Amino acid sequence: MSERLAGKRAIVTGGSTGIGEELVRRFVAEGARVVFCARSEPESPAVHEEALFLRCDVTRPEQVDRFVEEAVGHLGGLDILVNNAGGATGFSQWPEQPDAEWGGTLDLNLGGTLHCCRAAWPHLEQSPAASIVMISSLSAAMAIGRSQLEAMGGAQPPASYQASKAAIDGLMVHLAGRGGQCGIRVNSVRPGRILTDKMRTIFGGDEEQALFWNHYRDLQILSRHGRAEDVAHAVVFLASDESSFITGQVLKVDGGAIAHL
Ligand code: NDP
Repeated sequence: MSERLAGKRAIVTGGSTGIGEELVRRFVAEGARVVFCARSEPESPAVHEEALFLRCDVTRPEQVDRFVEEAVGHLGGLDILVNNAGGATGFSQWPEQPDAEWGGTLDLNLGGTLHCCRAAWPHLEQSPAASIVMISSLSAAMAIGRSQLEAMGGAQPPASYQASKAAIDGLMVHLAGRGGQCGIRVNSVRPGRILTDKMRTIFGGDEEQALFWNHYRDLQILSRHGRAEDVAHAVVFLASDESSFITGQVLKVDGGAIAHL
């Protein structure tokens, strides 16, 4: 690797599986020192050896404050925050989705991101080159019409997931404005469908769910599934000094899916 993050001190949320696990691995390979969190211990021992894991639920502000303080103490400061922890707390479809499920997904994606940004902000202000990267989603911007829904076997990312990811991009723009006054850059990466182990479990089972994946493979102009490494390339760029004149932007890593629409 090229050490594009040499000397950087980074926090990655949700770094125990999927995209986050790859982010931790890649950040370490690029020379960063990393502290990452999740609610449960990572299963992969390799991840443990590469970086410090601390348990934290990002929906709980008091836990986030403790986590960030401990991480910053360990790292001796902070240059990079990647808000990767996220997902959907249920998959009920519109308009049946119960309020509790709606609220749970908003709390996780938008609330969790907000808590982490707020706790990290004063530490990032001390950095000579601070960067926050949000992990948004293709879902923030993609409507699913009737024929597409049929092609997906009737299952699509829930309304709460789409709304919360769009809200993350709104928060990103707000914080980019505020960060410009104190040297903190803030950007979003919007992945298309990325074939992670968890997504395979959720959508990979029977024939109907395989439709979901084939649909996305066909929708993405580069007709293949996205990989965690594809997201990591973009996040490393936005976290590194190579992007030092870029803030308030959404970088789509979706194989051209949005361009296709
Ligand atoms: P995974 O479910 O594999 O990983 C999610 C990570 O977040 C895990 O480490 C999980 O650990 C952690 N996490 C979940 N809830 C919390 C919480 N409340 N507090 C702290 N950590 C938490 O998902 P992916 O790798 O697929 O997704 C990562 C990010 O990328 C998410 O934000 C997702 O929305 C986004 N994304 C993914 C796409 C895809 O196709 N895979 C497409 C577009 C966006 P634990 O459960 O132990 O807490």
